[in-house]
Amino acid sequence: MSYYKLCAISKATGILRNYRKTRKKNPKTKEPYARRLQLTTCYGFKIKTIEKVLLLPFKPKQPLSIPLNAYVLGVLSEPNIQIRSVTLTNERLSISYSKEVEPIQPRGLIAIDRNLDNLAIADSDGHITKRNLANATEVKGRYSEIRSHMRRNDMRVRERVTGKYGRKQREKVKQIFHRASKEIVLDAKRKKFGVVMEKLTGIRKLYRKGNWQGRSFRGRMNAWSFAELQRQIEYKARWEGIPVIYVNPSGTSVKCSICGSRMKPEENRTLKCPSCGFTVDRDLNAARNILARGVRFAPFASASEAMVQEPQRRVILKVDADELAKSGS
Ligand SMILES: [Zn+2]
Repeated sequence: MSYYKLCAISKATGILRNYRKTRKKNPKTKEPYARRLQLTTCYGFKIKTIEKVLLLPFKPKQPLSIPLNAYVLGVLSEPNIQIRSVTLTNERLSISYSKEVEPIQPRGLIAIDRNLDNLAIADSDGHITKRNLANATEVKGRYSEIRSHMRRNDMRVRERVTGKYGRKQREKVKQIFHRASKEIVLDAKRKKFGVVMEKLTGIRKLYRKGNWQGRSFRGRMNAWSFAELQRQIEYKARWEGIPVIYVNPSGTSVKCSICGSRMKPEENRTLKCPSCGFTVDRDLNAARNILARGVRFAPFASASEAMVQEPQRRVILKVDADELAKSGS
């Protein structure tokens, strides 16, 4: 039906745009094709609250009726919610909606520094903590091992297998991150803090940690997981009107967070400052430096106008109805 044409065209345009981009980098790029069957429409559908169904255009005067559960109906009837589009695939129905968010005026910041096996968090109230992420790293280790046992020269088979395990692994890591990001954002909301994180520049952070090679599967996985955590924190924060800023992280791991001198590594991942004598855990020191940069960048306390955030920004989130029903978050 014509309702679906517009989104099909825009999907195709997106695929082509990506193709042109990758072809510039690699002229051998294969011709693209749409992998997944899906229908998306931004109009023509109806949600019937009393009948508890979603009606999708199907045949003239014969819409397809899909039942919605109470949770989904509840979310969609919240104030300031606008339904944007509906996507139907083989397995699931996704409903995208947006919410008009009133940005909060933060009284301080909470800085988050992601390391290979932990999150270091420092906030304007002077609290510094670490959150263990070793279980995320563990998951990765386990799956990498499974993969390394599969030696087959057939590239197609290997790609498929890697893809499958890669996907499973990403889902596990995502789940671990969802808990962490949810708690961090709740904490920021309670304390009325904005969030500051480091701008990911790819290579640099990887060198700094020095634990693995950038091109390995593990490396790609980790690069992905750094970005995934930021993505989660950012969208959850924005959904609550909490500003998110990114700062340049260069030097944050070696400079003293009190006097700015270059620090010397000591035992057990601690650093000592030769000028002021400050001794601190290196991850916490980095988080404190990121916090200080954030405060300089966005001095909320005095002039909140200086923020580099568009106020009243409309946040558009794609929310999966199944996932919502399961997690209740
Ligand atoms: Zn110092």
